[in-house]
Amino acid sequence: MFIEVILPVPLADTYTYSVPPELEKQVFCGSMVLVEFGKNKHYSGVVAYIHLVEPSSAYEIKPILAVENSKPVLRRPQLRFWEWISQYYLCKLGEVYKAVLPSGFRSESSTNYKQKKETFIRFTEKYTNKDHLHTAFDQVKRAFKQEQLLLAFIEYSRIFSTASGTEVSRKQLLAKSGSNENALSGLIEKGILEAYEKEISRLQTYEEDIAPLNPLNLLQQQAYTDIMQSFREKEVCLLHGVTSSGKTEIYTHLIAETLKLNRQVLFLLPEIALTAQITKRLKHFFGDKLGVYHSKISDNERVEIWNNLLNDEGYQIILGVRSSIFLPFRDLGLVIVDEEHEPSYKQQDPAPRYHARNAAIVLSTMHSAKVILGSATPSIESYFNAQTGKYGYAGLKKRFEETGLPQIIPIDIKELRRKKRMKSLFSPLLIEKMKNTLEKGEQVLLFQNRRGFAPMVTCKICDWTPKCRFCDVSLTYHKRFSQLTCHYCGSTYTIPPECPECGNKDLKAQGFGTEKVEEEVALLFPDIKADRLDADTAKTTKSYEEIISRFEQGKTQVLIGTQIISKGLDFEKVSLVGILNADSLMNFPDFRSHERAYQLMSQVAGRAGRRKQQGEVVLQASHPEHPLIRMVLDHNYEGMYQMQVEERKLFRYPPFYRLIHINLKHKNEELLKALAQEYADSLRSTLGNRVMGPDKPPVGRIQSLHIQKILLKIEISASLNTLREVLENTRYRILSDTRYKYAIIQYDVDPVG
Ligand code: ADP
Ligand code: ZN
Ligand code: ZN
Repeated sequence: MFIEVILPVPLADTYTYSVPPELEKQVFCGSMVLVEFGKNKHYSGVVAYIHLVEPSSAYEIKPILAVENSKPVLRRPQLRFWEWISQYYLCKLGEVYKAVLPSGFRSESSTNYKQKKETFIRFTEKYTNKDHLHTAFDQVKRAFKQEQLLLAFIEYSRIFSTASGTEVSRKQLLAKSGSNENALSGLIEKGILEAYEKEISRLQTYEEDIAPLNPLNLLQQQAYTDIMQSFREKEVCLLHGVTSSGKTEIYTHLIAETLKLNRQVLFLLPEIALTAQITKRLKHFFGDKLGVYHSKISDNERVEIWNNLLNDEGYQIILGVRSSIFLPFRDLGLVIVDEEHEPSYKQQDPAPRYHARNAAIVLSTMHSAKVILGSATPSIESYFNAQTGKYGYAGLKKRFEETGLPQIIPIDIKELRRKKRMKSLFSPLLIEKMKNTLEKGEQVLLFQNRRGFAPMVTCKICDWTPKCRFCDVSLTYHKRFSQLTCHYCGSTYTIPPECPECGNKDLKAQGFGTEKVEEEVALLFPDIKADRLDADTAKTTKSYEEIISRFEQGKTQVLIGTQIISKGLDFEKVSLVGILNADSLMNFPDFRSHERAYQLMSQVAGRAGRRKQQGEVVLQASHPEHPLIRMVLDHNYEGMYQMQVEERKLFRYPPFYRLIHINLKHKNEELLKALAQEYADSLRSTLGNRVMGPDKPPVGRIQSLHIQKILLKIEISASLNTLREVLENTRYRILSDTRYKYAIIQYDVDPVG
């Protein structure tokens, strides 16, 4: 018997091994096996398929060394899904394997899965008989603390009991009874209690009551019916609902329906940061049927969730970020992609560079599941698919409490600057509205999509700017740490005391980031507590949650943040939102920058006045007359869509064309240029004007590697198989030129940003 094995090595897709007869009965598709690769290297691999034909390869076929798990770690459709991912996103199966399977499953990994253990306390055998209990109390008569602890044990072992009702974890017992170690050791020495180790699960259980679903209001009911209707004919339905219209409530009803069929639900979110609020909401209705999966959980916990799902009685709903599309689902009935327009659904590095929304749609075809894409500001692609009838469509145009969308007031900061009325980053109107809002005991959100104090520092005399040594970018000034930081590679630098070019001591900060906003809020409102939410303050999920919960509880009154604050957060008492500098959002050199700017501004604005009252938004811009800003003011998504779609058609962009970036990297710039030119010319001979470039991207060097980009614009109807062949042949030919030995060539299909 022979098997094809996927290994974490990006050369071929699979590697052939033989199975010794005594192991044949233990090997299945999806099993993990230990194999030798090359000389003396051992890897755990996944069995992709099993066959009987001896391959006619020149290489010696080695036998596998062992079978690692008693059961397969993958379910059938997963292997097909891996194959699709590797073919569509132009990578090797081994790269999918490396990115997807928890390393705890791999025996060569240093972080092998360990079952968690905890110490438990129970009565020794003699005292499990109630008749003997009084002799135990006789023994502790003169030891008051032991007596107290014994009473506590009897009480708590019943409350926290497992079925047998006579054990309690040591930690819990000591914490709840307020006793100390000595008292416990005393009882153990007397042979009354005993301690022992027990394997426990890392997965938390939900202890509170399960609530019935909220009934939907009329509009929501209508949207729900529209969705169900569209599911009769179509696989995917776009739920286009304004912020706070109750999309999440509709999801809960769809989930409940799917569970009735004993099918599973995958609920995707763009960011871990959002899981806390939604987990709470969903647990309330679905309790322990819900499992949560994201990148910040430990590898051990990941293995437990994975194993839980391999078990047929496992979780019925998974709430997770993009990587959860790779979990071993038994039978998916519904996939929800919330905030489907978010760019963070796209994996950037390493390969596979997949888009979780698009991949989830393919995954659901494999399960015959339905997909719901939810957003207040859908991606142009999804809206286009709904318009052309490929997807179903359900709209929800009113907020739940019918409070009306926030009123957005544009402020021309260029004009104010000219009249010398911009004394800080805040216009007089924004300051006044902040004052009123705070006086009423309500809260304020301030949005600036730059972190740090200033995105750039320059010399006032010669215009010198400090740059990163490894990347071609100017450094961001972080005042709190008195540091300059590279936002591409993370390198930090001290601030030079004077300009190294001309000796001038007056270096000036240019532009502003959230840190500077925070400083100005403190100056303007010294009695108000403000917090900042960005990649610097929310490094861990915990710090993120602390900032959010301080704001929710009203311990802080102003929250300043980057795009993190635009995402699906639900705050009850925010009635004012300030967008400090709209222009900076629209000036990115990317064909999606206007779509993205519209989404960010509308989403941030949507955080204002979610419950009982209409909110207000002050939108500061140098060009408030810009058509895109007018559309934001008018909540005119349709207008934005029309404008974008026409542009995209004209310039051959998605949804009319498929883009592929080829990123070429090398330490030597001249060599790279030659390589990129050769690559592009060679592709052009087959693909013609579908090939653009090579070009040096705006950031032309990252971590000491120079970068060149080739862009392909391919007709949506074109065959990807042919294209893949052309690309791979060209890459193979060029990389076999020894001059280019150290070149890196990466594909990015459907790139974002
Ligand atoms: P969205 O997901 O569209 O932003 P949510 O589902 O978060 O909207 O709803 C906004 C708020 O209104 C939430 O606090 C939610 O609990 C409440 N809400 C919406 N619909 C209902 C309903 N049918 N019954 C009770 N509360 C609702
Ligand atoms: Zn200078
Ligand atoms: Zn750098």
